[in-house]
Amino acid sequence: MRTGYDLELVHLTKRYGDTVAVRDLNHVFTPGSYVCLLGPSGCGKSSTLRMIAGHEDVSEGSIVLDGQDVSTLPPAQRGTAMMFQNYALFPHLSVRDNVAFSLRMKGEDKTKRHARANELLELVDMTHLADRLPAQLSGGQQQRVALARALVTQPKVLLLDEPLSALDPFLRIRMRSELKKLQRELGITFLHVTHGQDEALALADEIVVMNDAVIEQAGPARDVWAAPRTEFVARFIGGHNVIALPSGKATVRADAVTLSDAGTPATVTAVEYQGASVAVTATTESGEEILALIPEAAFFGSPKSPGDAVRLSWDEGRLHRLTA
Ligand code: ADP
Repeated sequence: MRTGYDLELVHLTKRYGDTVAVRDLNHVFTPGSYVCLLGPSGCGKSSTLRMIAGHEDVSEGSIVLDGQDVSTLPPAQRGTAMMFQNYALFPHLSVRDNVAFSLRMKGEDKTKRHARANELLELVDMTHLADRLPAQLSGGQQQRVALARALVTQPKVLLLDEPLSALDPFLRIRMRSELKKLQRELGITFLHVTHGQDEALALADEIVVMNDAVIEQAGPARDVWAAPRTEFVARFIGGHNVIALPSGKATVRADAVTLSDAGTPATVTAVEYQGASVAVTATTESGEEILALIPEAAFFGSPKSPGDAVRLSWDEGRLHRLTA
């Protein structure tokens, strides 16, 4: 069975007047995988996604999907489909007609349209609500309709622009697992834009971290987390301390830092209970702020408060050198 299609960006650049929103991106996405495009607001994620979808012109370079340069094709002919943040459902059309809409545009007859829409509604578990209007649905249900509507065209790649940001935190986590399950079932590449590192870690097989119009690092989620290449990635992905050494910068994971009798003297500045662990922030004498994630039993064996003097230590072997 085929597992996904190749999607490649070649020298992809986007300019808006003098602003370079996307600078010379070169990347081959892992076919048939869940990819998260991760980065802070304004780094060029949406521009990249919109260029792939065909909703934004390419300034330079190209987008190659399944061996074909699609950069200048209209959106409907690219083999991509996009799911928008606000879902953009037609308020006057039923759920079924929303899903069937693009087939109607293609001139498919009503029986075929409805049969295909019903299949997709089945896939997202919305068959029982097919005759409702969007306003009669919850946020999560609207999202499933938007997903079905995007998938009805059988895209080679599904593009998702901050798809979970309109949902409350509880629903966001549930929809996360639904998206992931759907991607696995369909076997096509999902390219999901997010500024949330927890969302990217939870969902992605591959994470592409963008900063300031370029790709800072790309790779399997676990590699990006465990071995950040740059200080930016280490800080953005979270859970790491960046430490200046005489020979350059290194990171140490917050869960590798312990409070001990020996080690670097520091003063506790914040204590945050997180359930399984306690996040202790302390400032060293040289002014470095270090985060230690202490297992809760260990912490409460010897609790600390802001203002307390502590000593921080970690194994040298847990230091990870930054290469850029
Ligand atoms: P992100 O999705 O990561 O938040 P965007 O791709 O939306 O980033 O934006 C990247 C940069 O391009 C930003 O500096 C933004 O202000 C600029 N930008 C985005 N869209 C436009 C536009 N239509 N016109 C001018 N500048 C834009």
